Amino acid sequence: MSNLVCYRCGATATFPDRKRCECGEPLWFDTEESASRFSWPDSGTGVWRYADLLPVGSSDRTKPPGGVAAAAGATPLVRAANLDESAGCRLWLKDESENPTGSFKDRGSAVGAAWAARAGKRWLGTVSHGNMAMSVAANAAGIDVNTGNTGDSDREEEGDGLNALVLVPEDISGERLAAIAQYSPEVLRVSGDYGRLYYETLAADSPVEFVNSDTPLRVAGQKTTALEICEAFSPTAPDAIVLPVSSGGHASATWKALRELRAAGLLDADLPRLYFVQAAACDPIAEAYREEAEDVTKTEQSESTVAYSIANADPPSGTRALTAARATGGAVLSVPDDEILDAKADLARKAGFCVEPASATTLAGIRRLADSGELDPDDEVVAVLTGTGFRELDADGEKPEAVELADLPDHLRALAD
Ligand SMILES: [Zn+2]
Repeated sequence: MSNLVCYRCGATATFPDRKRCECGEPLWFDTEESASRFSWPDSGTGVWRYADLLPVGSSDRTKPPGGVAAAAGATPLVRAANLDESAGCRLWLKDESENPTGSFKDRGSAVGAAWAARAGKRWLGTVSHGNMAMSVAANAAGIDVNTGNTGDSDREEEGDGLNALVLVPEDISGERLAAIAQYSPEVLRVSGDYGRLYYETLAADSPVEFVNSDTPLRVAGQKTTALEICEAFSPTAPDAIVLPVSSGGHASATWKALRELRAAGLLDADLPRLYFVQAAACDPIAEAYREEAEDVTKTEQSESTVAYSIANADPPSGTRALTAARATGGAVLSVPDDEILDAKADLARKAGFCVEPASATTLAGIRRLADSGELDPDDEVVAVLTGTGFRELDADGEKPEAVELADLPDHLRALAD
């Protein structure tokens, strides 16, 4: 039975045999029927709240899988009025750093791990040396394989989790390796074209289920970011949602969530506009948008950027993300590093959020959209802060003033002046 469909040509296929369509585009789960029956759930938390729209059992809504996967999602959505003036709109922040491993990646990894446990797979894999690598390793480690596939809520045997395989570049730094290794996955340093690896891992007969950046399981999990945003705004909706874009997986997933909610009658025909932001140093999707191209093609102009985690010269879901932006009346844009760093600093100084530079592209992008008149001051705009900045703080900052303990009372009194 086919359960995957191509957004572009409508061809269908069966998971897990295929991940991409014969037309070259990525496939996603066909949820037309379940979406038409969907209403906001009255129980369940995190990504599992939306189990009826996920390729897992409906019972996951009330009894999520074990381990860290149970804690994915349910992240805060907060107003950041202090930033409204400089953002040029009414700004909301969706804080994905509250996920267990500090980034939005846990949503897709959790769903991937739950699916793999049910399917009797022993291995969950990914091609990553950043947030996604940590997330897959952690979610695989924590899943209880014995509760998979039974639907029996009384069964509480102790499981060993899934094995995780993480393919990293040969020259990975020791710091990154240590962050991944703490969850004890199998790590392989691969030499050669790291970009090609993504495609090499999608073979149907692999003993490892790879949940790469835009594979169907990952997109299914990632769409819960937008489901949570829309449920929080219900019965109205935000005017726009702004995300950093790299592979195009999260962007595609956001579009899919909006389409499902429209099918369910929970969103108007006019969907929230989706804006995706890249770093100017490597912006193939924004380039295709600017040039009004049909497809995103690999960019040869890839330079280093502070937002390195979204510097993807050949995004596997780039064209799907481009289509999502256009279909919702949004756009894809890019921002230079100085604006990204300004936005990162302001998110900390005026809203109290420490984010990675990739996440700060959202605020930098919003400022450009407001300047160009794309956003109005009364627009309700959600910036998705995809990951924590605590992992990469600059240790070379200026030292603050020193004070003798005996002089402290004078200092405190001086603060009142
Ligand atoms: Zn197709």
